[in-house]
Amino acid sequence: MAYDTPIAGWRRAHVNTLRLWSARADHPIVLEDFNRGDHVGALAHRVRLEAISRVLYPNDNTPAGHELRLRQEIFFASASLQDLLRRHRAQHGDLASLPDHVSIQLNDTHPAIAVPELMRLLVDENDVPWDEAWKICTSVFHYTNHTLLPEALEKWSVPLMEGLLPRHMQIIYLINARHLDALRAARRDDPRLLASLSLIEENTTRQVRMGNLAFLGSRRVNGVSALHTDLMRRTVFRDFHDVYPDRIVNQTNGITFRRWLFQANPALTDLITEAIGPAFLDDPARIADLAPFADDPAFRGRFAAIRRANKVELARVVSGRVNLSLDPDALFDVQIKRIHEYKRQLMNILETIALYNEMRARPGQTWAPRVKIFAGKAAAGYHQAKLVIKLANDVARVVNNDPSVGGRLKVVFLTNYNVSLAESIIPAADLSEQISTAGMEASGTGNMKFALNGALTIGTLDGANIEILERVGAENVFIFGLTADEVATRHRAGLDATAAIKASPALAETLESLAAGNFSPDDRARYNGLVDGLRHHDNFMVCADFEAYRAAQRAVDELWHDQDAWWRRATLNTAGMGWFSSDRTILGYAREIWRAEAMPG
Ligand SMILES: *Cc1c(COP(=O)(O)O)cnc(C)c1O
Repeated sequence: MAYDTPIAGWRRAHVNTLRLWSARADHPIVLEDFNRGDHVGALAHRVRLEAISRVLYPNDNTPAGHELRLRQEIFFASASLQDLLRRHRAQHGDLASLPDHVSIQLNDTHPAIAVPELMRLLVDENDVPWDEAWKICTSVFHYTNHTLLPEALEKWSVPLMEGLLPRHMQIIYLINARHLDALRAARRDDPRLLASLSLIEENTTRQVRMGNLAFLGSRRVNGVSALHTDLMRRTVFRDFHDVYPDRIVNQTNGITFRRWLFQANPALTDLITEAIGPAFLDDPARIADLAPFADDPAFRGRFAAIRRANKVELARVVSGRVNLSLDPDALFDVQIKRIHEYKRQLMNILETIALYNEMRARPGQTWAPRVKIFAGKAAAGYHQAKLVIKLANDVARVVNNDPSVGGRLKVVFLTNYNVSLAESIIPAADLSEQISTAGMEASGTGNMKFALNGALTIGTLDGANIEILERVGAENVFIFGLTADEVATRHRAGLDATAAIKASPALAETLESLAAGNFSPDDRARYNGLVDGLRHHDNFMVCADFEAYRAAQRAVDELWHDQDAWWRRATLNTAGMGWFSSDRTILGYAREIWRAEAMPG
């Protein structure tokens, strides 16, 4: 069953339809079973079918692998394609003209089963010859890749596919046979190359590689930041890029200013409007006109006053959720995003412990008062991510109740992170934590929301951070740590962190106090495994980057003491973010991928 939601555009000039699908059983109840007295069995058919669209799988960068997930993927893909073909036929008659009117964007590999499904609909149900059908597919499909993490690439076991979708499996084999034949005919017959480009992985178990299927079935394949696209060409799709050098393109992600500035931060929106006029409301590039105001003390003062009011409001939200009162004059240091090892919330918490230790060791020093704010969900089965949430809460309990830090450090973990909570936190943030292991965050968009609202970024050279620094100015961002290439080199050299820990007394002390159970008196062994892992398998470079991160944090403290300089940089961050509007991103997709033109008016 289709459910339509009208999506009204800016100033209501256009309205688009968002069509979503729900699984409904054709017969609510099996009457024969019911009449036999099997009242539960009579409903089983309906329950099994309607389960298809019941849950949104919560996994983050790891595929689910359940049969129900595959049924869900084919259900949504097939419903959308059948609806699309029906509407196209009604409007234009034949299917040959499909590429002139339709573009389909595969958002990650989750809908990649749409490629063999469209082949099935064209060849089996509409008598389109195979070669013509393949030409249509590779003209209408495009694929956005969202991650390079090898464990995140969807693969479906061949026996599961054969059981559930036997016709699709035949079609995938046929696509693959023609693909490999064409490569051999072009003298690209090196067995290693053919094995790498095949749609089927031939290991102990045979699996369909959905990433390869999406790539082969698409006209354009895009990454979501310049670095990510470059790494796609050099790593996961290196061999495909060799054979199809024009297929991979970049479209750096963006964010909607309507939500993340105008709606989330109306006071700052009004201040900007007062300073440069309302043109930036319709043309985000015009926010650059704000740059000269970085040197205007009165403007900076008003910017600071708006941030302070937003912090008072956030403190109110926090006190309603946890029993903690926050000082709005402290530096609000924020890391909010899904909890994942590559995003390195753990490195932030370890640095928080090190700062806590330093504050207690030298209580007389003038510390910049800080509030460390964390929020984010972990996927249901991701044990290590849940342990990080536990640690954030354990550290908060110890730090917040220690009178010797004199209220100069507070730690908050907020549960149930979602877009609404993000809208109340981001306008109140002074510092934006974007500290992923370089090469692992495809783009990030949280980074953009913060910088647009004038938070300063502390971050690695990863994803869109690099393009943010290019546009707001490297001198207005705190960059630290290994580059993506240096991370790759370290991975080859070995992941033991003994040397890095020895070189950092602060890290050594932090790990020792964690291992001693100082933050988990109820279960002193709770973090032993975590600490052991860090010492000998520093997969995400938490130890390798720790000292560089700590030094960047001390540079943040120093700048905080120079409020004029801080608000100058804050203003230049907001002024430099025009390019990160999702309007620019969508225009890029329209022009460079879909070949679509703007409607008049
Ligand atoms: C923007 C946003 C994200 C993405 O954040 P990253 O820092 O880029 O990972 C995740 N969740 C919510 C609720 C968001 O608003």
